[in-house]
Amino acid sequence: MKLSSDELHARFRRHALRLTRQRAAIYSALASVNSHPTADDLYRTVKQRYPMMSLNTVYYTLSVLCRAGLVQEVNVGHDVARFDGNVTAHHHLICVGCRQIVDVIDEGLNQLAVSRGQARGFRILGHRVEFHGYCAGCQRAMLDVPPRNGQKH
Ligand SMILES: [Zn+2]
Ligand SMILES: [Zn+2]
Repeated sequence: MKLSSDELHARFRRHALRLTRQRAAIYSALASVNSHPTADDLYRTVKQRYPMMSLNTVYYTLSVLCRAGLVQEVNVGHDVARFDGNVTAHHHLICVGCRQIVDVIDEGLNQLAVSRGQARGFRILGHRVEFHGYCAGCQRAMLDVPPRNGQKH
């Protein structure tokens, strides 16, 4: 989904962050996909329009956007950080095979809460549920191993 310029300005204003061309380019690239890309993925996308952009700039800008709360880092125990341009309440299906991350929008999950006793004095700001498993594609790939040399296993 492509963001209008008005909406882009409104979001940056809401998060009290100055809108620069670089920030706009990186934020728009991230907010228009739901694939939860890595900094590298975003760099490749943005570089097509902004050939002077460096990978370091992408990393730095992502950290600025994260701190401002415009985007979030999705830490799923993978070796590479993934980023999410959607900061509204949602949850994730995570494939441990191909590492794709799929959004789950579920009002019931949004309502999850810890009891006062379990919260141990924490003031809870939010939560995100992760479901780990194998996506449909990875399950198919595991079943459909082509026979080698025409032999069946
Ligand atoms: Zn998969
Ligand atoms: Zn997400």
